[in-house]
Amino acid sequence: MQPIGLFGGTFDPLHYGHLRTAFELWQALKLSEVRFMPTGSPPHREQPHAPAQLRLEMVKAAVADQPAFVVDDREVRRTGVSYSVDTLTEVRAEYPQRSLCLLLGMDAFLGLPNWHRWRELLDLAHIIVAHRPGWRAPTMGPLGEVMVDRGTGSVRDLHEQRAGRIYVHAVTQLEISSTELRQLISQGRDPRYIVPEEVRRIIRETRCYAAEQR
Ligand code: ATP
Repeated sequence: MQPIGLFGGTFDPLHYGHLRTAFELWQALKLSEVRFMPTGSPPHREQPHAPAQLRLEMVKAAVADQPAFVVDDREVRRTGVSYSVDTLTEVRAEYPQRSLCLLLGMDAFLGLPNWHRWRELLDLAHIIVAHRPGWRAPTMGPLGEVMVDRGTGSVRDLHEQRAGRIYVHAVTQLEISSTELRQLISQGRDPRYIVPEEVRRIIRETRCYAAEQR
């Protein structure tokens, strides 16, 4: 059985940096699927700008033509703060025997020690780190230590074990962030070719980032 990829994010909005990363990791790691999991109320960052239902709708529209990409809305349905450790515990209970791979950009990985019960994440899943422009893997501190203990360069380990390894993979560098994208939209500029056409249409129709225009 191939590992399942779990890709969480605020996706406020989803862009080609997310999609390309998910696609390259799906192929390189031979994942059975990548599950996009938009957060409801993220605990370790400012609250999203677009409502959760709309962010979910954008993700669904963007992945509709890629059968290996599926959308899991459990964090949006959950009331209150979403902790990744709770989400992974649920997914683990549903797939006790499967390898699970939590997919993170390097910036997200570097913030991991601030996450609730972060060390337990490795009891539940592998952590896959996608290189993002301008970010380097840690060599010191708690993450540097955990990289030494748990790091692997072998995709085989991710298939043969269900959890517990850290794998860093370079992906095509697309210097896009949702924050910059929202700024661009709020300045009245067109996000064409940065987001999928379906996402662009939803942004235009709902004007969900226009409120930031001042
Ligand atoms: P923001 O700019 O608001 O922080 P973001 O673009 O980083 O948003 P998130 O939804 O927070 O988007 O990211 C979800 C996941 O996708 C994180 O693990 C993040 O590191 C990763 N990610 C985001 N943008 C890229 C990108 N351009 N290339 C690779 N990974 C990315």
